[in-house]
Amino acid sequence: MTDMRETPPFDPARLDTEDPPPFTRLNPDGRPSFVLTCDHASRAVPGHMDGLGLAAGDLSRHIAWDIGAAEVTRQLAERLDAPAFLAGYSRLVIDCNRPLTSPTSIPTVSDGSEIPANRDVSAAEAAARADALFWPYHRQIAGTLDRLVAGSEIPIFVAVHSFTPQLNGGDARPWHIGLLWEHDGRLVAPLRAAFSSLVPDICIGHNQPYAIVGPSDYSIPEHGQNRGLPHIEIEIRQDLIDTQEGAELWAGRVAEALESMRTEHGPFEMLTPVKHNP
Ligand SMILES: [Zn+2]
Repeated sequence: MTDMRETPPFDPARLDTEDPPPFTRLNPDGRPSFVLTCDHASRAVPGHMDGLGLAAGDLSRHIAWDIGAAEVTRQLAERLDAPAFLAGYSRLVIDCNRPLTSPTSIPTVSDGSEIPANRDVSAAEAAARADALFWPYHRQIAGTLDRLVAGSEIPIFVAVHSFTPQLNGGDARPWHIGLLWEHDGRLVAPLRAAFSSLVPDICIGHNQPYAIVGPSDYSIPEHGQNRGLPHIEIEIRQDLIDTQEGAELWAGRVAEALESMRTEHGPFEMLTPVKHNP
């Protein structure tokens, strides 16, 4: 391998009809109670980028997307009659849950795999990826939240993710789901109670397997904290939702937990926003 980058750069002019749109919006006229996002829904790479120079298997791995999360989000959108947004491209092209200033916005390595197309990305190319694939998704989410908060009910912002059962050859992760938050944890205890009554032996991670850190995450800080909206990030272990049956089972549980939390503890007010520097 040479130091020269051998994969084609991202070029918005080369996106064609084989390439997916930057995001999928579901249920735009659904109930305003919840707004769902799935930042890592897709493993798609623009066709002209030669699969980022990765081995084919790498684009099926968890490093490319959150396995099962898109199907769970689709099911949740239906069960909750909620607007939902699914990002259209792999996090390896540009990560929709990272600020553009983050070193992992366009990752050069992920869980041991180097990403050849992300070496030596110019500022112009990074900006082109953001303009084509990051901003359209986040602007649509922001526009929907702007509209809903002006209405009759404060929406609850829910970011859906999934996590690999094992990372970097480390220990097996015991949690079925993780509830993630940073400054505003008011949904955590009600949700934990709701999940525990639905699934008595459930193992719930509190800010596990990850913690949200304002400057290094994007969706919860931007759409939840910066607005003062009630919010939660829900992480589901991938081996539980990597089949249609598993995704349906857990989507049903998550939908029921969210709905019972809302009816028993809602409505939730807007809080004073916690702003992070971009
Ligand atoms: Zn994710």
